[in-house]
Amino acid sequence: MSRLIDLSHTVEHGMVTYRGLPAPLICDFLSREDSRRLYATGTEFHIGKIEMVANTGTYLDSPFHRYADGKDLSQLPLESVADLDAIVVRAPDESGRSIDAGAFRGLDLRGKAVLVHTGWSRHWRTDQYFEGHSFLTAEAAALLRDQGAALVGIDSLNIDDNSSGERPVHSTLLRHDIPRGATPRWASPRGAPALPRPQHEPCRAARSNERNKDSDPPLTPLRNGSKGSQ
Ligand SMILES: [Zn+2]
Repeated sequence: MSRLIDLSHTVEHGMVTYRGLPAPLICDFLSREDSRRLYATGTEFHIGKIEMVANTGTYLDSPFHRYADGKDLSQLPLESVADLDAIVVRAPDESGRSIDAGAFRGLDLRGKAVLVHTGWSRHWRTDQYFEGHSFLTAEAAALLRDQGAALVGIDSLNIDDNSSGERPVHSTLLRHDIPRGATPRWASPRGAPALPRPQHEPCRAARSNERNKDSDPPLTPLRNGSKGSQ
């Protein structure tokens, strides 16, 4: 029997997953309490509202992310991203930040999801996560393309070195319709940290948080009932 593995992190209101990008807003569009006046006695609902940038938490970069004429998520065939044979390539960050073609040479990658385990995911939800992450080199991306990898995933902040404006791995993989995923939880050697459940709060309170979205250091989550600063 096949086993299903959840690769995703729980995304919380106000959680910063990439510096410079706004934190998600998660709130009640309709609270259970407010719904009671709309329905018959004993019938109630909750309707949540989520507002966030597309690359939050565990996500998939589609070709359109990089190229205006590339496929967006809705245009990627499901067969290209789901139920793929996978191969895990261990490239511990202790042996250096950059992961070169040598890490993949000689492996059978054709049609496979290539999941690169760097160990960087152990820094998830710490300041360290944003500084000095592991990444693939341009040569590694070229090899993955040439060897027919179907999808490439990494448990790191970014598959590219983000110390300059170049993004050769994004460019090579996404030009050739190889989606790439950031899966910070999947490879966590110690398992995922225990995270609190998303907070439920009125959208009004959440919106006050949005004004601070460009702040650095990162946003801190609003407490329940917080009105935020004016
Ligand atoms: Zn990206």
